[in-house]
Amino acid sequence: MFDDLQKRLGTAFRRFRVSGLLTEANMKEGLREVRTALLEADVNFKVVQKFMDRVTAKAVGTQLIKAVRPEQQIVKIVHDELIELMGEADPTVRFEKAGPTVLMLCGLQGSGKTTTCGKLARMLANQGRRPMLVAADLQRPAAVEQLKVIGGQLNLPVFSEANSNPVKVCQDALVEANRQNCDTIILDTAGRLHVDDELMAELVQIEKKVKPHQVFFVCDAMTGQDAVASAEAFNKALELDGVILTKLDGDARGGAALSVRKVTGVPIKFVGKGEKLDQLDPFAPERLAGQILG
Ligand code: GDP
Repeated sequence: MFDDLQKRLGTAFRRFRVSGLLTEANMKEGLREVRTALLEADVNFKVVQKFMDRVTAKAVGTQLIKAVRPEQQIVKIVHDELIELMGEADPTVRFEKAGPTVLMLCGLQGSGKTTTCGKLARMLANQGRRPMLVAADLQRPAAVEQLKVIGGQLNLPVFSEANSNPVKVCQDALVEANRQNCDTIILDTAGRLHVDDELMAELVQIEKKVKPHQVFFVCDAMTGQDAVASAEAFNKALELDGVILTKLDGDARGGAALSVRKVTGVPIKFVGKGEKLDQLDPFAPERLAGQILG
């Protein structure tokens, strides 16, 4: 994970590993490499600009010239700023006091939405909730079957309807959840390969008619800036409550993880780190920053 970024930052930090005084020229060169490393990791350009302004101001402010170990100081500054970039940890789901809590998961096809529905259901069930999974992705033919298999593995109810439409499936699921005493409803909605009007209209309809309490965007971390652009589009249409970053176990370059919060303002809630249903972790920016810095 983030291997290239880690390597590039390592190279940049070596510029600060000087014997004697750290000159202004050394510092400039090192910071320029930090900037290049972030851009190559597909971090949003504007996010990088602001990040570098803050890092530079702090680095200059700590009078590195006099520092004994300038490299360590710079690493610490970058570490703290990476955490600031990713936003504070808030890996919580708010539950309604009365009636079932409805969580809507949305995202592009292949982002890991259906899998993440299962992972989230498993996590919440382990916390004592009684989740029901709802197959409202009627675009991808295999999605309903996939969700049923996941529900079977977790021993959790899955609601689906043949020859229906997504809004009706969700509405009927609410009735069924009450009947089965389920206190948490997780809606697996349709995705497409790209953001398009038809997809958004369908999701907006679900949001209007079903009124989910929270909407989470499932974001494939491997797709970098594309994922961030999609998150922005979904946030405009749906007012997202959280982002779930998937595929952080793969060779994600870091761009999505490091940009999505700043670009959208939406907090990262959880991270997916594998295909298995127990591979969902609460988002922990400190741990992620530590991994990026190696
Ligand atoms: P959907 O089209 O958004 O519902 O996506 P799926 O849930 O079907 O997932 C697409 C592919 O991504 C599947 O092969 C999943 O096993 C895989 N996947 C989902 N989450 C993760 C993850 O966190 N890590 C990895 N490596 N694969 C994942």
